[in-house]
Amino acid sequence: MSKQTKAKDVLNKDDLIVIGGAGGFIAGSLARYFKNQGFTRIRVADKKPLYEWYQVVPGVESLCLDLSDEENCRTLCEGAKEVYNLAADMGGMGFIERFRVECLRSILINTHMIESAYRAGAERFFFSSSACAYNVTLQTDPNVRALKESDAYPAMSERGYGWEKLISEMFCEEYYAERGMKTAIARFHNVYGPNGTWDGGREKAPAALCRKVIEAKDCGKMEIDIWGDGLQTRSFMYIDDCTQGIDMIMHSEELIATAINLGSSELIAINDLVAMAEEIGGVKLERTHDLDAPRGVAGRNSDNTFIKKMLGWEPGTPFREGLEKTYKWIETQYNDRKAGKRTVS
Ligand code: NAD
Repeated sequence: MSKQTKAKDVLNKDDLIVIGGAGGFIAGSLARYFKNQGFTRIRVADKKPLYEWYQVVPGVESLCLDLSDEENCRTLCEGAKEVYNLAADMGGMGFIERFRVECLRSILINTHMIESAYRAGAERFFFSSSACAYNVTLQTDPNVRALKESDAYPAMSERGYGWEKLISEMFCEEYYAERGMKTAIARFHNVYGPNGTWDGGREKAPAALCRKVIEAKDCGKMEIDIWGDGLQTRSFMYIDDCTQGIDMIMHSEELIATAINLGSSELIAINDLVAMAEEIGGVKLERTHDLDAPRGVAGRNSDNTFIKKMLGWEPGTPFREGLEKTYKWIETQYNDRKAGKRTVS
């Protein structure tokens, strides 16, 4: 079998694909991705009412269910061939540093979803882990050494959110070891792109900074407030790379129950991200730095040695290119909202 086996290579078009958290950014995009591949039975759920979903994909069975409730997970997973769990109470640094209890409580979603997938006889289960599962003591310098998979242990994950991801990874490992259900675990590094959160407190740096540039231009107040000193570094993965990577990781026989990085290895300092957003917007803004705001670890990058070896692939969309598409999408959202139209936020 090729290193890059995908759903289209192993599933029948009418096999049931189930996705949790599809009212949100990544799972909504994943539902659209599978729909575009011609799969005819896709069932998705989110606790948000349908009118708040970022994308409702036509032809996809879309349910409003709270997946921290086990019965609801059973309903969702019934008859599934594959289950993708991306539902989680999460957001950018502003959210995960302030609401650690909410982040930890996502363990209920993961434990109920994996058990329901198992009871439904699903062949494969996907879990969206995070780079926040990595040991934070390795991330104190902006000139960070990229994180490789073994850096999660000895464990010292990001408080709340990161620990929840790490223990949920372990559930995936043990459901395979003890019960034989094939599980896949991807550690996402900051995902961005159209159809993601761009306002309201849960948004991440690329969307937040694009919005701030757009706002500054619109209001004529040519200033931008940056969280932290702006020297902090991250890598950002474009959404299309993420959905493709999920598909390949899920269907790799070599990666069963094995956590793997899914992220870009292009390291960007927040100050440089601001400069790119300014350039796209055609403005130059006066910068202020809020040193008391949440800033997360000093630096984080994805070491892609393992994914390149296993899949012969890594997320490759250049950040500048993805940011431009994201900026334009947020600008449309911003203008639509101003015009009184309903938008994603
Ligand atoms: P998102 O917030 O846009 O989507 C998550 C969705 O889960 C939301 O729509 C939310 O309503 C839903 N949800 C929360 N609690 C629920 C519940 N009890 N029942 C049903 N639905 C519930 O986030 P996203 O960016 O699409 O992230 C998807 C997954 O990827 C999450 O597991 C997240 O931790 C992980 N991840 C994302 C990133 C990133 O940069 N976006 C990075 C690392 C990991």
